[in-house]
Amino acid sequence: MSEEEVKFVVDTMLGDLARWLRMLGYDAVYSRKLTDWQVLRIAEKDKRIILTRDRGLHARALRRGLKSILILSDDIEDRLYAVAKRYNIRLYILFDKTRCPLCNTLLIRVDKEKVKGEVPGPVYERYYDFWKCPKCGKVYWRGRHWIKIEEILERVRKRIERDVQKEESKQGVRPSTRTNI
Ligand SMILES: [Zn+2]
Repeated sequence: MSEEEVKFVVDTMLGDLARWLRMLGYDAVYSRKLTDWQVLRIAEKDKRIILTRDRGLHARALRRGLKSILILSDDIEDRLYAVAKRYNIRLYILFDKTRCPLCNTLLIRVDKEKVKGEVPGPVYERYYDFWKCPKCGKVYWRGRHWIKIEEILERVRKRIERDVQKEESKQGVRPSTRTNI
């Protein structure tokens, strides 16, 4: 399964993880209204990987032969790590792949002039690159929170790299410069 084909359905208690996966460019179905039964059905129909913190749902998914990751940590770094470890997801934000964290729609890049009046004045003055969701209309830019996002992703990448190195030293192969790009 290539990276592009990995799709998720995210259980109700993991909304932050769904938003992060969308930012990273992954198609992640999420709604607070989804019942367990709906999660299972969506996973089956669309071949999506279930992400849940519900042991019962996880067990039911596995019994049906579906892919599921049980995520118990409350920490977003741990949550991303758990997904990256299993499915080698991209831990970089590529803007041409980024989806709207709110509604899962692919964002489109818009000219600065087009967002005039839609973003706060100081933001308009300060930033040059803007993206917009064609579905819900929300406008995005790399604001101050961007540093935090990059830091979290960097820590998850480091953890994955350490795992790879450990694995390779166990197998007696030379450490490679493998990354998750
Ligand atoms: Zn949207």
